[in-house]
Amino acid sequence: MTTSHDICPECKQAEGVPLIWGTPPAEAADKIERGELVCGGCDIWSSVCGVVMNRECRACGHQWHVRENA
Ligand SMILES: [Zn+2]
Repeated sequence: MTTSHDICPECKQAEGVPLIWGTPPAEAADKIERGELVCGGCDIWSSVCGVVMNRECRACGHQWHVRENA
């Protein structure tokens, strides 16, 4: 598993961590505790603007969207 973080477009620091919405899966609890994952709460953005922010910067709190090619 990669531990590299995404570069924040705001502050240019490699502090971007996956941001998930709704109820996090059980296996995500550890990551959330270690700050490797952020849970954004209820899924409002997907229905409002069609784009789900899926990264959050741990340094400045900026949220942005990256395309996942999984
Ligand atoms: Zn940032």
